[in-house]
Amino acid sequence: MNLVFLGAPGAGKGTQATRICGKYNIPHISTGDILRANIKAGTPLGVEAKAYIDKGLLVPDEVVIGLVEQRLAEEDCKKGYLLDGFPRTLEQAEALSKFSKVETAVNIQVDADMVVERIAGRRMCKCGESYHISWYNSDKCQKCGSALYQRDDDKEETVKARLEVYEKQTAPLIEYYAKKGVLKNVDGMQSMDKVFEDVVRILDDND
Ligand code: ADP
Ligand code: ADP
Ligand code: ZN
Repeated sequence: MNLVFLGAPGAGKGTQATRICGKYNIPHISTGDILRANIKAGTPLGVEAKAYIDKGLLVPDEVVIGLVEQRLAEEDCKKGYLLDGFPRTLEQAEALSKFSKVETAVNIQVDADMVVERIAGRRMCKCGESYHISWYNSDKCQKCGSALYQRDDDKEETVKARLEVYEKQTAPLIEYYAKKGVLKNVDGMQSMDKVFEDVVRILDDND
């Protein structure tokens, strides 16, 4: 089961990816999470990536492509994987097609106003959980008890740039995967449980 999740920032990719990977027992590979972990650890990659992420721009293709190629070569990806936040450009998609075959690209569709609301209300935990102020009103993580925080790039100044980057560089991937016959659209405006059900139905149909 080789999966890609497409969707605007805040569409719900990470939320659904966590659930889907739990159900199908495949690794959840989020390039955003990998980059943030590198920033936190102060690696050279992290230092380079931070300059782009802070501006809401994409990290250069060759950097993320190398990361993903290495990660997909690991043993746990033999039975499948879910890529969340990669590919984000046509160049990345082309590179990916050279080292792995994507079986399904799930596109989580959410309208522009909702995207802004989802991002503005997102709160993160260092354990990887994410919450939203509309349905969670504690400042501590339910899973591990740590303090929740807002991602720097979720602040208003950066969000606009990220949405422009998405429209220009990432949205064309919808057409790219449609042409390959592997695109499945999901209505991301629904509740988390309903979106999950729809994704499961799509994936189970494919087998
Ligand atoms: P979101 O889930 O809100 O879409 P991510 O966590 O996926 O955000 O990504 C955060 C930032 O990390 C992006 O704005 C970008 O700067 C960088 N990034 C993540 N994935 C990629 C990628 N595949 N290519 C280039 N940059 C990336
Ligand atoms: P992405 O990975 O696409 O950037 P996230 O999964 O982090 O998006 O979701 C963005 C925000 O919206 C988070 O605060 C998350 O808790 C919330 N969220 C995600 N899906 C839904 C949903 N279906 N209904 C309501 N809130 C959601
Ligand atoms: Zn936590």
